[in-house]
Amino acid sequence: MNQPLPALLCLNAGSSSVKFSLYRAGNDAPELLFGGQIEGLLTQPHFKAKDAQGNTLSEQHWDQPQRRAEAVETILDFVKAEAKGYKLAAVGHRVVLGGTEYPHSVIVDDAVLETLEHYAPIVPSHQPAEIEAIRSLQISHPDLKQVACFDSAFHRTKSEIADLYALPLSYRDKGIRRWGFHGLSYDYISTQLPKLSPRLATGKTVVMHLGSGASLCGLVNGQSAYTSMGFSPLDGLMMGTRCGSLDPMIPLYLMNQYKMTPAAIEKLLIKESGLCGVSGISNDMRDLESSTDSQAQLAIDLFVYMLAQQTGTAMASIQGLDGIVFTAGIGERSPVIRAKACAALSWAGVAIDPTINESKRHEARRISTDQSKVEVWVIPTDEESVIARDTWKLCATGG
Ligand code: ADP
Repeated sequence: MNQPLPALLCLNAGSSSVKFSLYRAGNDAPELLFGGQIEGLLTQPHFKAKDAQGNTLSEQHWDQPQRRAEAVETILDFVKAEAKGYKLAAVGHRVVLGGTEYPHSVIVDDAVLETLEHYAPIVPSHQPAEIEAIRSLQISHPDLKQVACFDSAFHRTKSEIADLYALPLSYRDKGIRRWGFHGLSYDYISTQLPKLSPRLATGKTVVMHLGSGASLCGLVNGQSAYTSMGFSPLDGLMMGTRCGSLDPMIPLYLMNQYKMTPAAIEKLLIKESGLCGVSGISNDMRDLESSTDSQAQLAIDLFVYMLAQQTGTAMASIQGLDGIVFTAGIGERSPVIRAKACAALSWAGVAIDPTINESKRHEARRISTDQSKVEVWVIPTDEESVIARDTWKLCATGG
């Protein structure tokens, strides 16, 4: 009988969902077998799995809310039943913040979990859920190797200056520093650049990760030298429901003058602002692009204004601009936003070809004209493949 092949399960636990993908592991780059998610954990959970070609493999609904541990078990049961001929070698988790302790992915043990717990209050919307998923698997599958892959790790190459806030230095020791996030996505883009554009791989490139969360990363020679997100994933660009950069006096003023509680302000800044708050219509760029409402237009204009403004900051921080890369939901799929952002950066020598920009091909492509001083690319991101890569690397080397 043939030996089972090793497979890796990547998990991304959120506040109300758990996403998963299963990869075949081996000497070559991990290959996606299938993936899916359970959404609506707090209301009516819905499980859906698709193969690598996007065909539905399984779908299930429940009427009662589910605990995260139950959702993780449902996924594991499905994976074991579906992945015939494979043996689960390890589980890799997306974890938002690994602090200074983990500038790279790490095999999880009790000491690692203790550090992750310490950072959890900085990212209350994600990190507690990620830790809970790890702990639930420790209990149900104590022999299964688990790896934590961090969204903050890629940015640990930033200089000390790019990491610092202008507060008394003692606050840095309390963890108040510019961690930066979306690192798994930037890591993926950085590994794609050498084959797509040697100039951008070795030069100064601003990667725009524009999803429901959004940030910029200034790459120098493929390494993070600047990022628009800071202490938490709230800073920087305007996002679906997050406000982005804000005068730090605003929350204090709301507390003092309007007697808003810290919880109400947290909700305002994280869940009720951004595209959703300004438009009053939706956090989804597709809805705003198809709306004729003037507030939808205002939200789009502010999104583009903040994007161009922060790109200027990134350019100054990395001292130049050879290229721009658009990625994630909006970056990959919205020619409208790409065109507006590039128009707002035309002063910097950015020029794109409208026909190539509007092409519906969902693959890496250069959209700048030959005359553009700055190369502009669209590159679909793949954070899960980075989790699979690191998880396999740590399995193979034993950490
Ligand atoms: P997440 O950040 O949640 O991982 P994505 O990177 O997939 O998710 O980004 C999701 C966002 O991308 C959606 O909220 C939506 O605003 C935007 N988006 C997806 N498709 C399109 C499209 N065709 N046009 C404009 N925006 C899009």
